[in-house]
Amino acid sequence: MIKEFLKKFRAKSPWLLHYNAGSCNGCDIEILACLAPKYDLERLGVKNTGNPKQSDIFLITGPVTKRSRERIVELYSQIPEPKVVVACGSCAATGGVFRGMYNVEDGVDRYIPVDVYVGGCAPHPEQIIDGVAKALSILQEKSKTIEKPKKLLGEITERNGQIDRTNMAGKI
Ligand code: SF4
Repeated sequence: MIKEFLKKFRAKSPWLLHYNAGSCNGCDIEILACLAPKYDLERLGVKNTGNPKQSDIFLITGPVTKRSRERIVELYSQIPEPKVVVACGSCAATGGVFRGMYNVEDGVDRYIPVDVYVGGCAPHPEQIIDGVAKALSILQEKSKTIEKPKKLLGEITERNGQIDRTNMAGKI
C-alpha cells in the first residue's frame, strides 16, 4: 500500500527546473503565464524549483549557446533519475531563428536527450501545459523501469505504519 502511495505521489507532484539556454525571453514569459493563476500549472501538482537535485522535469527554452552548453550538461547530470527533458519552443528544438549564428549551437538534443518537444515561437501556455502533461506520463513510465531492480531487494512491507527496511535488507 505504501509502495502504491509513493508511486502516485511521485507521478502527481513532479518538480520542474526551468532553464533559459539563450532564449529571447518570449518562451519564458509564456512559462510564467502557465504558473500564474489563469493557467495555474501548479494545480497539476507541478512546482517550479531552482534546484536540479530536487527536479524531475528539465524545461529548457532557447537555443544552446556557447555560454550555456556546459551548464545544460551539468544541470542535466545533477537531476536524479528518473528525469524528463522538455524542449520548449522552436529554438530549443532546432536553434530556431538563431540557428547559424556565431554563438549558437543548434537545439538542446545536440547535448542531452530530449523526451518532449513543444513547438511554436513562442508556444502558447496550452501547448506548454500539454508538453508538461506528456512529460508526466513519460516520467511515470520511466519510474516503473527504475523501480524494477528494487524488486530484487524483496517486497516492501509495513510494520507499525512504517516501511520495514529490515525485511528488504534481509533478502539482499
Ligand atoms: S522560440 Fe521564439 S519566443 Fe522562444 S526563444 Fe525562440 S525566438 Fe524567442
